[in-house]
Amino acid sequence: MSGVARSEGGSVAEIVQTGAPVLRSRAEEVPAEKIPTPEFQALIQTMVETMRDAPGVGLAAPQIGIPWRVIVLEDRADLVKKLPAGEQKERERTPFSTRVLVNPTMRIISGETEEKATFFEGCLSVKGFVAIVARYREVEVTGLDEHGEPQSFHAVGWPARIFQHEIDHLDGTLYIDRMLTRSFATAEQSQALFAGRSIAEIRDLLGC
Ligand code: ZN
Repeated sequence: MSGVARSEGGSVAEIVQTGAPVLRSRAEEVPAEKIPTPEFQALIQTMVETMRDAPGVGLAAPQIGIPWRVIVLEDRADLVKKLPAGEQKERERTPFSTRVLVNPTMRIISGETEEKATFFEGCLSVKGFVAIVARYREVEVTGLDEHGEPQSFHAVGWPARIFQHEIDHLDGTLYIDRMLTRSFATAEQSQALFAGRSIAEIRDLLGC
């Protein structure tokens, strides 16, 4: 998913844009023995650097052209702080440190997508656009970390949205497959017209 500020990057890969078949294919499971190899560790490092450089709050390996089930996520306090306090609270956007998940699986905890978890989101692979997407508010994600150790995360609100968005990438799904189509907007337009308005009001304006 896309973020809100630029950071310094080292080894940064080009982010594949929508239309590329790698974004529309199911990525492959990573054999556990591959995780400690220098090549795989370098991939993780490149993914983290690329996410920070973009800047973004999550990146899936297919987004840099690698068809493996790997995601990285982080939502830094300095990015979150740039949002108005009301928006942070409404979106339940709580900062969290860098997470690497290999072969993640997700369990939905809150049974359905809820009005409360319906917000604009964007994607680094659909550059320059945003749309309203309903997401599950609460999920549990398990997988292996960068050392091959089992990990489990319980996520609520914005972090849960990021997990759902990134795991979708591993199955060839983009947010544009799930969006309220009438809300699809350029990031510029949404910034100019929708800043400070509630989602209910925006949906009313756009008829969605
Ligand atoms: Zn994305």
